Amino acid sequence: MCGIFGYFGYRNAIPILQEGLKRLIYRGYDSWGIGFKNNGKIEIIKDIGDFERINLENNKKSNIGISHTRWATTGKVSKENAHPHLDCENKIAIVHNGIIENFQELKKELMERGHKFKSETDSEIISHLIEEYMRKFDFPEAVRVAFLKLKGRNAIVAMSENFNGLVGVKKGSPLVVGIGEREYFIASDVRAFVRETRRVIYLDDNEMVVLK
Ligand code: GLU
Repeated sequence: MCGIFGYFGYRNAIPILQEGLKRLIYRGYDSWGIGFKNNGKIEIIKDIGDFERINLENNKKSNIGISHTRWATTGKVSKENAHPHLDCENKIAIVHNGIIENFQELKKELMERGHKFKSETDSEIISHLIEEYMRKFDFPEAVRVAFLKLKGRNAIVAMSENFNGLVGVKKGSPLVVGIGEREYFIASDVRAFVRETRRVIYLDDNEMVVLK
């Protein structure tokens, strides 16, 4: 069982993303990662092991980001398999909780269409599916249609270079939105942001949220 956490607002997301993850570690994890936008480009910091020892408060600032504690189900524990996962062009990043039951057939189809994978996870197919659908749709719609392809119990939060916001969607795995003053939080568990706001929306299965 992993932890998902996302932030979009006016403050520097990086320490908030790290703090959110700290509040989710009770769920267990073997690796971790954060993704944020730096001058409009998506940057990822991820690794195996204990993230609390890492000082992420470097000179980078971002008002939007996603973070993840992974409990490996598909693919070994490795830096490459840690989330967030990107598409071919590093413009879309996702964090995922759950198991995609039909990932092998979806991955095969995506590879046949030329997608290059960097991990062994089931999760990475989501960013590549969104990449494909963005040729036809805007980002939230691409996330929606991509999510509908997944079988199993899943929750995701996604961000894109081309969209100023976060998109979350779930079925069978938890996802909770927190509404602050000029800022939003989204997580697997309300504990991740309980100190920040008490205004909370629990997403239902097959419900999607666009935070913008
Ligand atoms: N199935 C995904 C993986 O193995 C997500 C696992 C999780 O929920 O942490 O990376």
